[in-house]
Amino acid sequence: MEEAHFVELAEGVHTMISPRRLSNCTIVVTSEGVLTVDAPYTRQLAEAVIAYARRLSPRPIRWVVSSHHHGDHTLQLCVFSPPAQVIGHVRNREVLLDTGEYERQRFMRNYPEAGYDTVTITLPTLTYTDRLTLHLGDRAIHLWHPGPAHTEGDTVLFLPEQRVAVVADLLFNGIHPVARSGYIAGWIAALSALQAMDLETVVPGHGPIASRHELGVMRNYLLAVRDAVRPYVRGGAPLEQALGEIRLEPYAAWPDAERLGWAIERAYAELAADER
Ligand SMILES: [Zn+2]
Repeated sequence: MEEAHFVELAEGVHTMISPRRLSNCTIVVTSEGVLTVDAPYTRQLAEAVIAYARRLSPRPIRWVVSSHHHGDHTLQLCVFSPPAQVIGHVRNREVLLDTGEYERQRFMRNYPEAGYDTVTITLPTLTYTDRLTLHLGDRAIHLWHPGPAHTEGDTVLFLPEQRVAVVADLLFNGIHPVARSGYIAGWIAALSALQAMDLETVVPGHGPIASRHELGVMRNYLLAVRDAVRPYVRGGAPLEQALGEIRLEPYAAWPDAERLGWAIERAYAELAADER
């Protein structure tokens, strides 16, 4: 049985750190009700989040901020919603509408234990484009879309008083990132913008709680991928050669090394488009 592990970040702000380095889920308690960022990847973990939230507040989970459309973060939204309302970037909704079934099939193959055969694809019903602020009781919760980065429709959540940012999959902490829907240049820029902010606690989409330092580590990883790919694009070498040859030695100890291929592919496509 996989155990949910919860960390308190500030008064009324807790994160479930997922087993197996899968998607984390943050809980924000307000006097109006509870808000979460994303849903965990299994129904059982989502129910553990509901049970944990119930101990923090008599009020139910009323809002879920969806950080992006990938299945590990969205397929169990149906455990929270209804009754909770799902809030997300406009492109998160549109992309999930197009790819929800693909995500379901993909994750069903990879995680047959997660119960994806019975989920209902659940879309954001409140969307925004650049920024959105939720005033819930005495909390102001800020949502920010950094532009296309980890995906087209990323959302970062800020609690400015607590200097907390839930950056979701803009940060994989000590793990190779999933870049299959990524925009490497935009992702690097988003991490730079976040690094310049007054933040104490940074909640990654995957891995343990971090700080601004780890934003720089992720940024350096993406810069290293792009630097490694550039000579192949400039020299007209095919993508397959880059995939076969590029090794990022400083990150050799990070798990999920097979994901490097996605980052190489995305960087190659972007750099090739720049050359044209
Ligand atoms: Zn993820």
